[in-house]
Amino acid sequence: MGLMKTEKGISDHLLDALNGVTTGLLNLVRPKWRHSDSWVRQDAVRRLSNPKVLAKVARTAPDDNVRSEAVKKLTDTAVLAEIAQEDESDRVRREAVEAIDDKALLAKVAQKDYSEWVRQAAVNKIADQALLAQIAQSDKSANVRNRAVIKISDQALLARIAQADESETVRKTAVTQITEQALLAQIAQTDKSAAVRSTAVAGIADQAQLAKIAQTNPNNDVRRYAMDAITEPALLAEVVCSGKYRGEHGSIYAVLKLTDQSLLAEIARSDLDSGTRMAAAKKLADQELAQRVYAEIARSGAADVDRRDALVMLTDQSVLAEFAQSDPNRLVRLTAVKRLKDQSLIAKIALCDPNGFIRLTAAKELQDKAALLEVVRSEIERTDTDNSVCAYAAWHVTKEQLDGIAWSERSKAKKLAGIMTRVSICALCREPVETRLVDWKGRCGSCSGAS
Ligand SMILES: [Zn+2]
Repeated sequence: MGLMKTEKGISDHLLDALNGVTTGLLNLVRPKWRHSDSWVRQDAVRRLSNPKVLAKVARTAPDDNVRSEAVKKLTDTAVLAEIAQEDESDRVRREAVEAIDDKALLAKVAQKDYSEWVRQAAVNKIADQALLAQIAQSDKSANVRNRAVIKISDQALLARIAQADESETVRKTAVTQITEQALLAQIAQTDKSAAVRSTAVAGIADQAQLAKIAQTNPNNDVRRYAMDAITEPALLAEVVCSGKYRGEHGSIYAVLKLTDQSLLAEIARSDLDSGTRMAAAKKLADQELAQRVYAEIARSGAADVDRRDALVMLTDQSVLAEFAQSDPNRLVRLTAVKRLKDQSLIAKIALCDPNGFIRLTAAKELQDKAALLEVVRSEIERTDTDNSVCAYAAWHVTKEQLDGIAWSERSKAKKLAGIMTRVSICALCREPVETRLVDWKGRCGSCSGAS
């Protein structure tokens, strides 16, 4: 090999002879693509144009990044073919594969390369359906099989893969390309993966087929996916009413799409699942019936979450009062209290609820200062005084009112003064907050810094 003055500058043999010379000095005499700094080398390769030098760099540079830069500029197909098969770096082989079009070589790489990454790059460039079919059914990597499946159009083969591949991802990819409705329905009924089943349902356009799945599929998720996809009102009604699914929470999704008032009324009155009844009641034009249903659900043995949901919808004050005063679940009581309008009832709860947070919630709704003063007195007289309730009420009445309270014992006034020292009211959000946590503007931790 001779000297190439322009780009090489000095022969490799001579460089090899310069063993004792320092790196800095070497950098002066070496071609730039052999510089000790990888960035300088890559930049130098980007400036190369001589195909022979590019080929040499692509074949021999020790640095992957430098070889990669050279491959990007290579046009010599023979050299690219050699690198695609022999380079030690997966990345460089992949880049070479992306630059070649030789069908036989792509087929070889797709089947033989040990890196799934490189095989995928080859599969991406293959159009031969027979070869893709073989790879889709035999490659040991699910990622490579998946790549091949994406490019397959044969419905019978896709059907086989959709039902047989061990990878959920590959089955899903196959299912997305299947158009045959009966086959999709079959996969929706039988695949062991919820993702594959839902993908199959998503491909079904036939409303009757969806209704059948919604009614007969043994799996809850699949029935739900199918119900979600039904738009035909008569079929939705049929699904909701099919005796087998009475009391099934999933029918909510079908109910949400129903518009027939007499059917909604029937479901609201008599469905076995309180969530489904709620969903139907919310769609009723008949408000009186809706309120009756809410009250029934709130009184029933339904889950607390459904009872709270019902209370949120209730406007009947006497029913709300019943729950606010006597429900054993404190969250149910809290939900009811927040919806109460009667001040005397709210005052009663602010005085009597066993839970401090509920007493505080009620106290915050009180408009009348006399009622708040009564909360202060009662809270101090309790053995389980809640400082927040007490301070909230006390800070919302006048000093004269506080001084006027007739205490059962003298120590009670001192107890109140102590609580009012320890607990303040945030200047911004009006929540009771420990005085030691208030900032210089009188704001609580959450409000501090917020404007
Ligand atoms: Zn605050």
